Amino acid sequence: MTAIDLSSELDKIIENEKIHVLFQPIFNINSQRLHGFEALSRGPEHSALFSPVPLFQTAAHEGRLSELEEICRRHSIRQFDARELPGKLFINISPKALLEPSHAKGLTLSLVQELGLSPDQIVIELSEQYPADDIDLLKECLNHYRSQGFLTAIDDLGTGYSGLRLWSELAPDYVKIDRHFIHQIDQSPVKQEFVRSIIDLCQSLSCKVIAEGIETPAELALLTQLGIVYCQGYLLGRPQTQPTQTLKAVAPQETKQRQTRYAESAESLSTRTICVTPETKLKALSARFVRSPHLQVVAIVDAKQKPLGVVDRAQLMELFSTPYGRALHENSPVIEVMNDKVLKVPACMPISEVSQCLTAEHGTVAQHFMVMREQQLLGIGHTKDLLQQITEQRIKMARHANPLSGLPGNIPIQEELQRLRQQGRAFYLAYFDLCHFKPYNDIYGFCRGDEVIQSLALRLQQQLGSEHFVGHVGGDDFVVIGTSQAIVDECRRLLLSFNQDREAFYSPDDWLAQCVMAEDRQGQRVAHPLISLCVGLLPPEVTRFCDEQGLSAYSAAAKKQAKAALNGFSLFTPAPNDAAIAMYRPLKFA
Ligand code: C2E
Ligand code: MG
Ligand code: MG
Repeated sequence: MTAIDLSSELDKIIENEKIHVLFQPIFNINSQRLHGFEALSRGPEHSALFSPVPLFQTAAHEGRLSELEEICRRHSIRQFDARELPGKLFINISPKALLEPSHAKGLTLSLVQELGLSPDQIVIELSEQYPADDIDLLKECLNHYRSQGFLTAIDDLGTGYSGLRLWSELAPDYVKIDRHFIHQIDQSPVKQEFVRSIIDLCQSLSCKVIAEGIETPAELALLTQLGIVYCQGYLLGRPQTQPTQTLKAVAPQETKQRQTRYAESAESLSTRTICVTPETKLKALSARFVRSPHLQVVAIVDAKQKPLGVVDRAQLMELFSTPYGRALHENSPVIEVMNDKVLKVPACMPISEVSQCLTAEHGTVAQHFMVMREQQLLGIGHTKDLLQQITEQRIKMARHANPLSGLPGNIPIQEELQRLRQQGRAFYLAYFDLCHFKPYNDIYGFCRGDEVIQSLALRLQQQLGSEHFVGHVGGDDFVVIGTSQAIVDECRRLLLSFNQDREAFYSPDDWLAQCVMAEDRQGQRVAHPLISLCVGLLPPEVTRFCDEQGLSAYSAAAKKQAKAALNGFSLFTPAPNDAAIAMYRPLKFA
């Protein structure tokens, strides 16, 4: 098509408003809820100007960008309303159009108001792809929309040169990371680092990050691991006239190796077991039980050591105690009478889950279960030991729990550290603390302060508690202890999600002002920043060599570093040959 053809095609499109709009969903992956839709315009089907890229290019070339934009925006808002789509509506506006003198101001607001929508439902996306020369003027235009209550976003971050300047000067409500950085991010450490730094920056600027163009479960899994909350892409929903509104189940992330702590896992209940072959005669087995009065159960395993079932003492005695029972059965092989329905649980399964399986799978609670590791029998667990351990755990928990959060307090925390040290295991220790909590408590009162602590405790328990040990030191201080490196990203993620959800703690006025006002000792009104969570993480290089005193000294140093960090996160690194580490070495290893 020649330029003249394109120009007349554009004339027709503008004259007859031949624009249709597709909507693509944006989801909050944390809450699994819809966040909103981006409106994407299309020209007529089979036209050279069907795709928005040539369409807007031609309009820019012909100096008719504002007219086209105005039509697209009007159609987007009207369709969004007519289809009763929930959440926010993201609309694209090219900076060039915003700066054109013919750009009509005020139309968007009146349309939004006419339809009964609220301006803060609309997010104006400004693409970084089409650089604007005059950032000051652009800022002015955008501030005009903001003053009317609209939200703003920088689109395609990372594609242009002006992005960071635009970002710092416009302080938008959202940034959208361009598809290029999302594509195969799971295979690119450089892209991961880029996204990680955007997330960090956003956190300190109270700005939400949206990842665009997510196409595969692996990309989504990695982004979630990095702490991305808002997601858009073909994987979650394509642009459509009638878009999907629900988050379909995407292929689950690779099942993570569970890391239940030994003391709470099925493994701790496993006892050494006598194994016999399936051909063993019941006579021989009975003799075995007589010889070993404490032996309760034996396992039957085949030639490849695969466990087939169990025979227990009571079962055999019952069989032999019937008239002629012994004579009838003593020459039978064990395989004929064994219980092959015995529950098999992996060694890493938490005992609370074993207990659920035992009651769920059998009408009556079975006496024994098999503890497995990599298809091999590790040993047999006894239900009475399981009940005893659960009861002991509950009593201990109740006695040493923090009364406010119900989480393990100082004694169990010290026990956990001691256990890891005794086992010589490398571990991470994360120290969480709330910054600016005191003024909050003073202004909102202790009850509200307690609610903040409880909500943090719940979040820590839900997000980190299944894999790691979560303890409440007291006040607004928490520790999380874990042996896998995944804890580093998990702590970052928790930090982000807590800081993102702080709005619930504040009155609308304080939230809007992003600070709280209180009188100081001299009676002066002073502004205090909002509460924010920070975390100082001690890596195994530090924890491995420290005794109790050392850990507390290093935790304090890590916490201080975290408080000073812009994003509230610090992975503590000691100076090379740090003499203090040697000083804190536990005596027994010295
Ligand atoms: P954009 O705002 O960055 O929109 C996202 C683009 O990525 C859309 O292309 C969308 O269809 C595509 N996309 C979304 N998820 C995926 C994915 O998982 N994989 C891949 N490969 N692509 C994905 P589309 O609709 O062709 O729009 C292209 C650009 O045209 C938009 O980029 C936007 O800058 C512009 N545009 C669209 N509608 C309008 C409008 O009404 N006004 C203005 N000014 N620009 C518009
Ligand atoms: Mg966009
Ligand atoms: Mg984009």
